[in-house]
Amino acid sequence: MPTSTDTPILSDEQFDELAALLTGPLHRPGSDGYDLGAASWNVAVQSHPIAVVEAHSAEDVAATVRYAADHGIEVAVRATGHGAADPLDGVLLIRTGAMDELNVDEAGWARVGAGVTWGALFERATPLGLAPLSGSATTVGVVGYLTGGGLGPVARTFGVSADYVRAFDVVTGDGQRRRVSGTENFDLFWALRGGKGALGIVTAVELDLPRLSEIYGGALYFGAEDIAAVLHAWAEWAPDLPDAATTSVAIMRMPDAPFVPPPLAGKVTLAVRFAWVGDAEEAQRILAPLLAVATPVLGGIGDLPYSQIASIHADPVDPMPAADNGGLLREFPPDAVDALLRAAGPGADSVQVAVELRLLGGAIARTPTGPSAMGHRDAAVSLITIGIAAGPVAAVTAADSARIMAAMQPWSTGGSMPNFSSSADPVDVRRSYPQETLDRLVALSAIYDPRSVLRAARPVRAAAEMTR
Ligand SMILES: Cc1cc2nc3c(=O)[nH]c(=O)nc-3n(C[C@H](O)[C@H](O)[C@H](O)COP(=O)(O)OP(=O)(O)OC[C@H]3O[C@@H](n4cnc5c(N)ncnc54)[C@H](O)[C@@H]3O)c2cc1C
Repeated sequence: MPTSTDTPILSDEQFDELAALLTGPLHRPGSDGYDLGAASWNVAVQSHPIAVVEAHSAEDVAATVRYAADHGIEVAVRATGHGAADPLDGVLLIRTGAMDELNVDEAGWARVGAGVTWGALFERATPLGLAPLSGSATTVGVVGYLTGGGLGPVARTFGVSADYVRAFDVVTGDGQRRRVSGTENFDLFWALRGGKGALGIVTAVELDLPRLSEIYGGALYFGAEDIAAVLHAWAEWAPDLPDAATTSVAIMRMPDAPFVPPPLAGKVTLAVRFAWVGDAEEAQRILAPLLAVATPVLGGIGDLPYSQIASIHADPVDPMPAADNGGLLREFPPDAVDALLRAAGPGADSVQVAVELRLLGGAIARTPTGPSAMGHRDAAVSLITIGIAAGPVAAVTAADSARIMAAMQPWSTGGSMPNFSSSADPVDVRRSYPQETLDRLVALSAIYDPRSVLRAARPVRAAAEMTR
């Protein structure tokens, strides 16, 4: 099995040999194509793969995997780099951006290539009244998000997005192209709906799109003086919400920059996000007690076209150096609220741009209709810290996040969601899945990837070994 310490190097002849097998270009270090291909949305992660394959087809992916297996090299895959976490030294990187197949069927489903973003799918699907179940940011790739489960702004109503996957086309580590669905390669269907890319490189996905054109939703931002009262009120109010409501809060420390609205710039604020699928008047009645607590400094909640759903979280669109850290809480009682306020509230010396709590439960906690490797569905709240990871600030951001997580430890389940933690770090992977899920992923990997070609399986194997 190749390791990062004995980096295999391909000769010029071997690079030419691989390039001749591909329809898309092979970029070697020193070229613009390489720099572009190795770059990721999260610019904090600098990657140095041995080369970048710009895949144009499923056969390009399969040929790359087979060639890598024959030469003892691992293969990784990226679409946008939103989840980049691995420097990829000695690894062959497949970029899927050019695999842009995108077909939406008015009957309520779509087939998309591995390089398609949620934004591109929105452009085709929302005019037909169909609602792709994206996360908070539509710049994220459809496949990378779905293989990690996916919890979006309407997740308490519709559940985990991966549960809407009908089928994957995938290249497994043995270089075979396989069709994966509820009736074909059932074990891989289980693994890919939540197990990230440990079992294969997805070349296309087919997913159901619920019929939904409009919701009632938005975000309100409260000033520092109201954060404690609003956060306590949210923590008391949120657990009783019906499944029609999805909500989250975030303690924000936005930079004092021209692109940030003045009420938020350079200040500590609290964002309260709300999305309601149903009757607007009922939503207003349910929101009333929370709105009575304080007057927001910015924002609004009202009728919102589903096409605008990314405005609820208003995540950054442009590449940035980000450091995320995720955890899960069993509950969020008043003493947990106080602990969070002490650790990250207006009086705290925190550097996190956002400390976010998403209410789980509702349809997220329901047993999925099909097989799924996504676990931890019974957690009450997802806790995420998001900070800047550039230069010397990176170490400060990481230590600050660890301090906040430690403060919330008494309420932690010990778990995390695959999409909200590093898929390259075995410790994080260990927290993302129960032991039996890790064991099953490793057992399947031995069958479908006998020569351990897929880079994404390495941390899964290490995570499975941790508790032995
Ligand atoms: C601003 C922002 C907002 C986010 N919001 C949410 C949210 O609301 N809910 C949520 O659940 N997640 C959210 N995420 C996390 C996001 O879903 C994951 O980081 C996801 O993996 C990104 O996928 P990508 O393809 O865009 O990124 P990439 O970095 O290109 O890929 C990330 C990983 O996905 C896997 N992957 C990508 N392509 C393939 C493929 N073809 N086959 C197999 N595996 C593949 C690989 O493991 C890869 O390492 C957010 C992330 C960011 C940065």
